[in-house]
Amino acid sequence: MNALRSRRGRLALALVATTVVAVPSVALAGDAHQDRTWAAKQAIKGGTARNVILLIGDGMGDSEITIARNYQVGANGRLAMDKLPLTGAYTTYAVQKDAPSKPDYVTDSAASGSGWATGHKTYNGAISVLPNEKPVPTILELAKKAGYRTGDVTTAELQDATPAVLGSHVVSRDCKGPDAMATCAVNDKVNGGAGSIAEQLVQTRPDVLLGGGKQYFDQTVKAGKYKGKTVTQQAQANGYHVVTDAAGLAAAKGDKPILGQFAKNNMDLEWVGPTPTRTGTAPAKCAVNTARTASQPHLVDMASKALNVLDKQTKRSKKGFFLQIEGASIDKQDHAANPCGQIGETVAFDAAIKKVLEYQKSHPDTLVVVTADHGHTSQIVEEATLGYTATLITHDDANMTISYATSEITGSQQHTGTEVRIAAGGPQAANVLGVTNQTDLFFTMKRALGLR
Ligand SMILES: [Zn+2]
Repeated sequence: MNALRSRRGRLALALVATTVVAVPSVALAGDAHQDRTWAAKQAIKGGTARNVILLIGDGMGDSEITIARNYQVGANGRLAMDKLPLTGAYTTYAVQKDAPSKPDYVTDSAASGSGWATGHKTYNGAISVLPNEKPVPTILELAKKAGYRTGDVTTAELQDATPAVLGSHVVSRDCKGPDAMATCAVNDKVNGGAGSIAEQLVQTRPDVLLGGGKQYFDQTVKAGKYKGKTVTQQAQANGYHVVTDAAGLAAAKGDKPILGQFAKNNMDLEWVGPTPTRTGTAPAKCAVNTARTASQPHLVDMASKALNVLDKQTKRSKKGFFLQIEGASIDKQDHAANPCGQIGETVAFDAAIKKVLEYQKSHPDTLVVVTADHGHTSQIVEEATLGYTATLITHDDANMTISYATSEITGSQQHTGTEVRIAAGGPQAANVLGVTNQTDLFFTMKRALGLR
């Protein structure tokens, strides 16, 4: 048995030795007991990247990853995101607005997003502005300025915190459209500001902008050049091709920037299942959400289209692209204490990661980073534990009890202040190793793209 195992190990190593340049991750996934020193060394590459692809699982702490893994592929299985060669942890804390030298240990997606997008810590609710409310440039804006193509993809509203931090700067995350500026007077177009998140996103003009949030693009611009037009009309005047369903997205040629508005609010959930109770639930399996709007693309469809378009647009150019892809409703279903909703979104996010890793295989000069913005409430627990629990039957045909215990079931479950996983492969990926700070990711991506 041992001899067989070591022979197999040598064979695997030999295979790896011939292909490792393009596929640095193969030796690290699920090959138990293998000496990984050589493969890890091979995975460490400095230099610049042609492309950077950042995948954010919103609220996807270690617990959310483990829950999805157990359910979908079993405790000893591996998700696509588990196969990245280099893994570290990073701290996610925000800072207090009135005392920015002091941490706010539990961050929201706005402060954490501003952190990885700009390299600066800020307060909860801030969209790429400092605690003093001054805007700071984002990795997407810097990449665009340097001649890279850019993309921003989410299953949430495009005006939600994670996609918003890349292409807009407002003092409150609530200022999603021209009619929602109550808490952002300083940013309001009427007062000479740059406008709402929706307006600023189409002004920043990433080449690919895909997600929900159509209601805010339908609002009317109140001042300036586009006064009286909707934000969608402003986008079209700026050259955007606007699509509203999967067929439209598939048909878009990508010769113009693409704005996908696939839902009024957030996009629909992939899965449904039992609601946790104080006394637990009977063991159950998750089911596909039959109420999901069939014309909405899945996250993997949006990711594939973004990759195709950006790759095509940069074929003949010296510079590649920066692309952010968010699995947004992992967080939202954690808030809702909906285990199957949360797992379905994590699995859909993992499908997008798989697609990106396939792209990286043929484009090894691409830095891929998979991480989260903050931890969340769900925990794998013994049955009959305090809190609201539901029991699911996993891929292992075993019962897994999940607890939500940061709020009453009638309220919203809350984020946690834990560090989270950050995994990467490609040029500069070694900079995620060890324990880093969320703001370090900005500098890793900036260095990878050779930006100043
Ligand atoms: Zn949240």
